[in-house]
Amino acid sequence: MKTSEMLESLAANLWWSWNPEVLGLFQQLNPEVYQSSGHAPVATLRAALPAVLEDASFKKQVKAVYEAFETYMNTPGKYAKAPRTSYFCMEYGLHESLPTYSGGLGILAGDHAKATSDLGIPFTGIGLFLKEGYFRQHFDANGWQQDDHPQLDPSQHPLYVVRNDDGSPVTATVTIGHQPVHLKAWRLDVGKTRLFLLDADLESNPPELRMLTHKLYQGGNELRLKQEIILGIGGVRMLRALGIETDVYHMNEGHCAFLTLELLRERMDLGERVTDAEAWVRERSVFTTHTPVPAGHDRFWSGRLLHDLASFRSDLGFSEGELMDYGRVESHEDMFTMTVLGLKMSRQANGVSALNGEVARDQWKAMFPDRSVDDVPIAHITNGVHVSTWAVPTARAFLEERLGDWKTNLLDPGFWAKLSEVSDEELWQYRTTLRKQLLDFIAARMPTQTLHVDLDLDPEALTIGFARRFATYKRAPLLFHDVERAAQLFADTDRPVQIIYAGKAHPADEGGKRFIQRIYEMSQHEAFRGKVVFLENYNIEVGRMLVSGCDVWLNNPRRPMEASGTSGQKIAVHGGLNVSILDGWWPEGYDGTNGWPIGNGTSFDDVQVQDDTDALALYNVLQHQVIPTFYRRTTDGLPVDWVARMRSAMMSLTRQFSALRMVSNYIDEMYAAPAPEVIG
Ligand SMILES: *Cc1c(COP(=O)(O)O)cnc(C)c1O
Repeated sequence: MKTSEMLESLAANLWWSWNPEVLGLFQQLNPEVYQSSGHAPVATLRAALPAVLEDASFKKQVKAVYEAFETYMNTPGKYAKAPRTSYFCMEYGLHESLPTYSGGLGILAGDHAKATSDLGIPFTGIGLFLKEGYFRQHFDANGWQQDDHPQLDPSQHPLYVVRNDDGSPVTATVTIGHQPVHLKAWRLDVGKTRLFLLDADLESNPPELRMLTHKLYQGGNELRLKQEIILGIGGVRMLRALGIETDVYHMNEGHCAFLTLELLRERMDLGERVTDAEAWVRERSVFTTHTPVPAGHDRFWSGRLLHDLASFRSDLGFSEGELMDYGRVESHEDMFTMTVLGLKMSRQANGVSALNGEVARDQWKAMFPDRSVDDVPIAHITNGVHVSTWAVPTARAFLEERLGDWKTNLLDPGFWAKLSEVSDEELWQYRTTLRKQLLDFIAARMPTQTLHVDLDLDPEALTIGFARRFATYKRAPLLFHDVERAAQLFADTDRPVQIIYAGKAHPADEGGKRFIQRIYEMSQHEAFRGKVVFLENYNIEVGRMLVSGCDVWLNNPRRPMEASGTSGQKIAVHGGLNVSILDGWWPEGYDGTNGWPIGNGTSFDDVQVQDDTDALALYNVLQHQVIPTFYRRTTDGLPVDWVARMRSAMMSLTRQFSALRMVSNYIDEMYAAPAPEVIG
């Protein structure tokens, strides 16, 4: 095989998104285009410099990487005989070059898809082709967020329209109101797993419908409903058009729950009675809920829902009330709730952390009036992260050299126990190297940053990170709740502290934008200047650098609103320590030795009281625990207590909060489980 052919095959599969050796090849092909394309292999290959392609040592590297890829693709996974699963999710976050996501839900779905490939389960993902999914963030002179929406050009990415033998696109059609909307599918190969992203941008659709699938969570409820009809109903129809057989339908969040109604329609179309058809659908559907607050669930007003599903309802032969009943708890409700549909029509349901499961059981207990809250049939599978995606090259080399084959043994606790043989000096060296790499990365980004910052970062100082969506419940500026108290923490020149923030506010979220502006203002305050830094345009690359370089990962959401949170899980492999409210995954992760809690896990009804209490707890843990432990040194300059915590975190958290563990749980407890009890 020719070198160029091997490169074509490598570029065509997102295996590169968790194998930096592959990306390294493309970077050599044309470093400038690699950079300007946002690390896109296909774009870089199109602009390859011929001299590199002819270089003998380069050819050898390509061959070695290609062989590793072939081996990966041809090795049947442990779960090759698992049920064939089709997974539906609005968004997928896979790599910084593909903005087909909007936030944590998408990142989770991307990590889930990659782990299914590693485990070799027959798995297909269905989503939307979000051409303008992840906006680019910049700022005006007052620190007020601006957004622009660059368009994804599929020709620069491994995205291929699925076509019939005659070259025409394979299509599926949904009817919105009485208007047919045609859909095509873009295929994206993620290792052994295939994703199909639905796109309404076809000439056969009227212009106003062609944009339907381009943007996420914008344009209000009206657009959202149409997108969800496309995802759920269109997704099932596309699976049929593609000839993909499915044993289990996994709904990741309520957005896609209309898929169950389409399955119902298919069964009734075959002549089945509605009760039998419902039982058939439930036996094959599982549902994951992520949303701890009632207001966060998708709900549609009956007038709108019945309008947009008018033709579909007549296909089902349902009255208006019969259709509405699938999405409401009480028959007088005038809103259709997607989570209710998902719960009613699935055989099993789960939240995404133990606490989130508990919150969900309480939230939906009205659906199960005969049961006590503990018996509400919503279990939990705690989220995890795809370690190969988030571990930076320095971390990969460290694991390889000190522990061995980390990719194969990731789920083996005995493997991580080998960390006890690594010396304190070496672990501290690892941490110091990663912190320095982050500071270099930040400095290199400054010339393109529009938000003004003064940088005065110290490569030896305690470095705290906070990066996530700026949803207001996450309370990004909590550290500045009491500016004087915060200033005291930063005033000690013998024990310097610095903090890096990053994150985007939803373009319509004024509160979130005010939070960014507040941090910007603090970064200009004399007590914090140079030490409080807002790094703009958070994305997967910025995220990877921050989770690798920070000593401490700060998370202070208003409990219990963080369903799981995953960014803190990404730091474990890098020896970072979580300092977090006991919300989401952290009550399961924290064991007394591997990080710190903020407060003791209480929730308050009064948000003011909760903010005051949590801010105080945050100051106390930083002042009395975190900062002293970091700066307590032996005569050799080693922070031995800190290193002990690092070791404990790496050993206890990396495996348990990995996507491989998570997806194994989904296979064992959800996909392969014989339906233990039917919810509905
Ligand atoms: C991990 C990650 C998230 C999710 O972080 P949370 O802690 O769950 O809020 C969002 N965006 C990016 C780019 C990430 O890498």
